[in-house]
Amino acid sequence: MTARSKPMTARKILVVEDEAPIRQMIAFNLTRAGFEVAEAEDCSSARRRIADSRPDLVLVDWMLPDSSGLELTRTLRRDETSREVPIIMLTARAEERDKVLGLDGGADDYITKPFSPRELLSRINALLRRAAPPADEELVAGELRLDPVSHRVHVGESEVTVGPTEYRLLKFLMENRDRVYTRAQLLDFVWGQNVYVEERTVDVHVRRLRKVLEPSGTDRYVQTVRGAGYRFSTR
Ligand code: CA
Repeated sequence: MTARSKPMTARKILVVEDEAPIRQMIAFNLTRAGFEVAEAEDCSSARRRIADSRPDLVLVDWMLPDSSGLELTRTLRRDETSREVPIIMLTARAEERDKVLGLDGGADDYITKPFSPRELLSRINALLRRAAPPADEELVAGELRLDPVSHRVHVGESEVTVGPTEYRLLKFLMENRDRVYTRAQLLDFVWGQNVYVEERTVDVHVRRLRKVLEPSGTDRYVQTVRGAGYRFSTR
């Protein structure tokens, strides 16, 4: 086996809240419930955290020091990389108008302070169930199939052997098909943001990936977009 199969990773939640006692209380309860928790105390650090750790869900407080939680939500919805992340707004304001504003701004749900940890957890779980396909679902494109459970890639009936980096690259591209990623974005998402690798490394692994897919003709799904980067598409 080339890659050790990883255990199911914990879902990541980013808590954006400037009031430390509230943020820590939420983080404590979410960690105890089995989530991996990241914290941010303002909008700019929240944006860095999101690029850095790709959370599965974001809790955004309405009142933040540098900009409003509503503005942060709008920004996340405009950005290609965070457009689909589930967002729950936290607020002390119980007014209907604010709720509508929050939801119109792109939040998926809304919870009014004070809330119980149990209520927050049930909202989070409900939203995660609605938002994400199960992580172990097989990815299929034409005759190409990637099984995240066994880490195996098949074309039709035959297995193709891909290296661990090519596997991660292919998985990321298949999960985000029809979207163009720059080399820098692929480095962030596939290699991780704190790893220093040159952008042309991406080209090397794309070339290797295409080479293993080439005999079946499925290398045509891994497309170069001139002046931009790469895209996975069956079209
Ligand atoms: Ca606040």
